[in-house]
Amino acid sequence: MPIHVLPPDVASQIAAGEVVERPASVVKELVENSIDAGARDIHVETQAGGKQLIRVRDDGCGIPAAEVELAFHRHSTSKLTSADDLTRITTLGFRGEALASIGAVSRVTLDTRAADEEVGARLRFEGGRVIERGGSVRAPGTTVTVEDLFFNVPARRKFLRSDRTERRHIDAWLTRYALAYPDLRLTVSHDGRVTFRSPGSGALRDVLIAVYGLEVGAAALEIIADRPSADITVTGFVSPPSIHRAGRGFITLFVNGRWIQDASLTYAIVQAYQTLLPAGRYPLAVVMVHLPPADVDVNVHPTKAEVRFRDGDAVFRAVQRAVRYTLLERAPVPPASVQPAAGIESARRDRLAHLAPAARQLGLAQPAPVGRGADIPLESGAEAGRLPPLRVIGQVRATYIVAEGPEGLYLIDQHAAHERVLFEKLLAERKRAAVPSQALLEPRPVELSPEAASLLMAHRETLASLGFRVEPFGGRTFLVRAVPALVADEEPQQVLEDLATALELGDEPLGEQIAESVARWVCKRAAIKAGQVLTVEEMEGLIRSLEQCASPRTCPHGRPTMIHLSVSRLAHEFGRT
Ligand code: ADP
Ligand code: MG
Repeated sequence: MPIHVLPPDVASQIAAGEVVERPASVVKELVENSIDAGARDIHVETQAGGKQLIRVRDDGCGIPAAEVELAFHRHSTSKLTSADDLTRITTLGFRGEALASIGAVSRVTLDTRAADEEVGARLRFEGGRVIERGGSVRAPGTTVTVEDLFFNVPARRKFLRSDRTERRHIDAWLTRYALAYPDLRLTVSHDGRVTFRSPGSGALRDVLIAVYGLEVGAAALEIIADRPSADITVTGFVSPPSIHRAGRGFITLFVNGRWIQDASLTYAIVQAYQTLLPAGRYPLAVVMVHLPPADVDVNVHPTKAEVRFRDGDAVFRAVQRAVRYTLLERAPVPPASVQPAAGIESARRDRLAHLAPAARQLGLAQPAPVGRGADIPLESGAEAGRLPPLRVIGQVRATYIVAEGPEGLYLIDQHAAHERVLFEKLLAERKRAAVPSQALLEPRPVELSPEAASLLMAHRETLASLGFRVEPFGGRTFLVRAVPALVADEEPQQVLEDLATALELGDEPLGEQIAESVARWVCKRAAIKAGQVLTVEEMEGLIRSLEQCASPRTCPHGRPTMIHLSVSRLAHEFGRT
């Protein structure tokens, strides 16, 4: 066959193959464009694992009507003008290939309105050709709809996997963006059902909870740098040694906001856990490296999932040191050192004898049974993550409890600690379907806003499992028959109204997590407040209950319950080392 130049449509299909491998690649490119456009709210919708439809809607800057067609041209971008710019890329996209590639292998509809234009534009594209142009009446932002992916590339289409597998790939990408951009409110729905929602609170820990669940999210340790370097900063979260997984797949890396795969940095993180994890187990980690754009080349591969560092060793060292330092400073005291000695044990048991009344008054867990001889095994706190036994020294500003333990000094936030105690107790009671509930002598009517009313209807069963008995009473009125015992001394109407408002504003994830958010809310409300003077017995009761918690170091919202000043830290601060 003589040499000839390929017709443009064939050439562009080949080029498209590099960028668009499967539905997940389309989702990735479109979401990156939305993020580059400054969007805060992004909705991703798919049908049939993205093979039939992918739609990404954002509230970003939009595309000026005069430029919509240009956006679909190969190598057309608004993010780069000279080769020089390649050395200081701060956007996720820059190659100007994505829309052209997607347009070459699917039917695309672009619907957009620039923030400063009155009307928007709409463009339909099919297999690389414009088939329809028009205006669009919409809010500022952009919606890209991609249908029938690879309709004109049967070879590719054949290699797509089951809907479920394609969906998994899509979710993997979306999870990464949610983690990398905690400010983003990302809503994902597959086949008409919302499956994920990132809270958009700006706090990475909230995203961790949404992605990995409460246990991991609450226990994760925020990375602290020992000596922050001007050039390379490392932030994020790592799991405490008590939480681990069978593979490296839970280690997520970002460089300047871009998800990357990097065996060497993954190894740096794993190595920081040396001797802390059982063999064959790996940590969970979300690690963000920030460095000057000129020190990293992101233009290595069309999918931009690999990068090259100017000084790879320095990045390796920075990551490893930050993670190791975090583990040493923040990780729960290792089990071996918290086994109370026999003498402490019996002394503590004596002390516990006096605590029952105070503990009961605060709604705390009851202390272990007392006085049945030395053979009663006390809850030892020896499990990783648990607290060692602490001795209460006093209270500061009626807000913080000062305590001493074998490992140094602890400052405990009484409100956060009590929230944690109540929360674990409440969830445990819910599991046993035994949440104490206070029936009202006379049911009280409450009228709610339409949104609040429909939320309440939708979550009635969950609310019932937490001790709220409410009945629809026509329209937007509900009858409150019972409330959780924890909030029984408040006005029931007020409680319900406030709860409905919190649910309405909260944008909390759906499903099982709604129970946790309601539980969090109830416990926050019921917990002792800052500014409340506590007796020594009450403080001890609280600390004992906290010691029994599975995740004593954070409150249900993920904030720390305590600050720990280790013995070595104290020695260091006083120049004794
Ligand atoms: P790149 O992202 O590499 O610039 P793309 O082909 O992905 O290339 O997009 C081309 C151009 O279209 C972008 O540079 C941007 O100007 C515009 N664009 C694409 N998607 C959006 C969006 N969601 N909001 C605003 N502008 C967009
Ligand atoms: Mg792009």
